[in-house]
Amino acid sequence: MALLSRPLNTLLTTAAVVLAGLAAAPIARAQQFEQQPIDPSLTVAIATPVRDGAFYNLMILEQVPNQRQCWQEQNPGNGPVAIDPLLLNFDFTGACDRKTDSNGYSVRVNGQDLGVHYRLEVSARQNDLVLFARPTRDRSAPPIEIGRTNGRTNGFLKIQLNPGWQMARRTYNGQPVGHIYLTHDAPLDVRLATGAAPPLSQGAPAPALPTVPSTPIAQTPPSSGTTPTGNHFRVIVPITNNNTLQQVRAVEPEAFRATVDGQSVVQVGLFRDRQRADEIYNALVAASLPAKIISASAPAVASTPVIPPIPQGSIVVVIDPGHGGRDPGAVGIGGMQEKQINTAVSNRVQQQLQAAGITVLMTRSSDVFVDLDARAQYANRAGANLFVSIHANAISMSRPEVNGLETYYFSSGERLARSIHSAVLQNVSMRDRGVRQARFYVLRYTTMPSVLVETGFVTGAEDAARFRDPAAVNRIADGIARGILNYLGR
Ligand SMILES: [Zn+2]
Repeated sequence: MALLSRPLNTLLTTAAVVLAGLAAAPIARAQQFEQQPIDPSLTVAIATPVRDGAFYNLMILEQVPNQRQCWQEQNPGNGPVAIDPLLLNFDFTGACDRKTDSNGYSVRVNGQDLGVHYRLEVSARQNDLVLFARPTRDRSAPPIEIGRTNGRTNGFLKIQLNPGWQMARRTYNGQPVGHIYLTHDAPLDVRLATGAAPPLSQGAPAPALPTVPSTPIAQTPPSSGTTPTGNHFRVIVPITNNNTLQQVRAVEPEAFRATVDGQSVVQVGLFRDRQRADEIYNALVAASLPAKIISASAPAVASTPVIPPIPQGSIVVVIDPGHGGRDPGAVGIGGMQEKQINTAVSNRVQQQLQAAGITVLMTRSSDVFVDLDARAQYANRAGANLFVSIHANAISMSRPEVNGLETYYFSSGERLARSIHSAVLQNVSMRDRGVRQARFYVLRYTTMPSVLVETGFVTGAEDAARFRDPAAVNRIADGIARGILNYLGR
């Protein structure tokens, strides 16, 4: 922990800046969650290899006391500790709990939830695998190191936590819930000073975000035990005028019309994780939209895509056809439905990439509704190299003069976005509305370079005409595929 050996006054100077930044940050609100200790012998953090060690995911196993053994540690000593996750060999229900993503774990420092600001990630560093909490907003800020494997093999390895770090259980209204914290009790200023600059502002100061009102949230205690089912958080915006849907889609293009308690609303997303809901809520409020978070039960009709076997060593691209099922997406000239265009373009992109030897996974391969979070997590779990979401744009029906291609990225997808954007414009004669940065959910919560393409306006006279021509739709798709292949150097 080299940073801890820095002079304390340096840390404290930085800390003052950090705390000033945090005063306006929404993380203070997360204090509805508390933590309680876990017997350290009952949990283990594991670096799990994906695609033969091309990279690693974090898995946390928890042993239910007095039940069948969940894992075995081999060759404990100074070097790496190999883990045999026995649960892969038997029905572990009731004996072992397994967390594999941010629904199951997050980082908490000195009583502050940092899950909105930091993503837990295992990265290879020379002959070691290191567990980091990596800033999700200010990606130039340094990550916080939490532990390491002290060596490397091709198998499952125990992450040995650095001094001061431990695992704890999240509690909510005093009840334990199925979420594990990697936590450090040192004062917030020191930990953040070692880890990161204030994460909210990048360039211009971020607006002060209001806290989530507690009244609309039903204070239903989560089901006890370790299964995170049941309670979801639905983020909605009541429809107040003809532009509400478009305004919300400027923040989150997957938003769609729904009815909640007889009221017409735009549904932005349905989340298992309260922090995800909070973050998207904050983005909506920052755009002056009257967002609400309401509790909800698990989606009845959402489909969860299944990861097929992936050939060893292949490049994996996830194509994400926007909307589907009960959500038609934008509706344009002549009743044209965005979801149908997205499907046509995506299927053609899939064909073209497969013909070039790329493994393509689709977040939906039929006309079904897929939850926003499920789309991002699918790509993360599959260990995809790239993620490309395909949409069509819309503005008012009274603006047929608005047409053109927009390609969005959030962070690491910029070069991919530029490659796709220019390849489409080379292939199709259409207006250029530019490569843009946006905080769309599927871009923020995918861990690989990710892009969202708005292939034209269903409300635009020129673009809608193009969408009615299957050959022209194919040219758009071929451009997207070419842009992906160029990016991959193929
Ligand atoms: Zn869309």
